[in-house]
Amino acid sequence: MRDNERARVRVDLSVVLGAVLAVPVVASSLLVLGLVGKLVWPEYFWVLPAGWAVAGAITFVPGYEHLVLSVLLKMRAPSQGELTRLAPSWAAVCAAAGVDGDRYRLWVEPSNELNAFAAGGRTVAVTRIALDLPRPGLEAILAHELGHHLAGHTRGTLLVHWLELPARVLARLLRLVAWVVPHVGRAVRSFGRSAEALVTVLLGLGILTALAFLDPWLLLTPLLGPVLAWSKRLGEYRADLMAARLGYGPELIRLFREWIRLGGGDERRLWARLLAGHPAHIDRIKKLTDRGFRG
Ligand SMILES: [Zn+2]
Repeated sequence: MRDNERARVRVDLSVVLGAVLAVPVVASSLLVLGLVGKLVWPEYFWVLPAGWAVAGAITFVPGYEHLVLSVLLKMRAPSQGELTRLAPSWAAVCAAAGVDGDRYRLWVEPSNELNAFAAGGRTVAVTRIALDLPRPGLEAILAHELGHHLAGHTRGTLLVHWLELPARVLARLLRLVAWVVPHVGRAVRSFGRSAEALVTVLLGLGILTALAFLDPWLLLTPLLGPVLAWSKRLGEYRADLMAARLGYGPELIRLFREWIRLGGGDERRLWARLLAGHPAHIDRIKKLTDRGFRG
């Protein structure tokens, strides 16, 4: 079994952690829909949450991914000129991995930041500026994104987003309501200062309770932030490693060194490192050299 094939079948810890951490919010979403179902159709209250969950299958339809990327994320299809740079690099990376490049869709993000990302089941996007990289650099970045796809990092993200949507929308509405609480308090000031304090505290507590119900992780965010970030960093190391196994290790290390040089160093403080979804470039270089890849 070749290295990249072995990586493909191994369970990825960052995928497992991402799924586990999504469970409470998904459960809240379905509960919210169940409560709405109770109001509108008590006998068949379960139809709404069950229907929503089943409708989540739409996130695996290519057209849905297309819609999210073009409408929500403002991506666009590459122009003919961009395609002449992008397509050969992508083809080379896919050939190295032994996968069919045609099953993926290439996108361009009109941004002047050097970046790329993988999403859903078939999306690979690069920023406009990334297309100006010399071909080995562009291939190395694309190999990292293919690594995310092959490790399954992105496959379920659109479905999780769909399943969390009802809870997220309601939580956002509640935050808006929380914004008017002090105004309501002030409105009852004519009944006395203590009435104002009581109304403000009661409304505030009610909203906090509802928010904790909709997003149980919310109260634990300070503790879970580092866990989530750590799981994302594991995914980044994994995608780097997969790109390196495809032969792009030296080029990736060269790119990270260049980023450090352009950024004037990579000395993030400990707390910033703990909460970052991407590892520091210096740590990414170290992980690759520890595995025997040289720049
Ligand atoms: Zn990545």
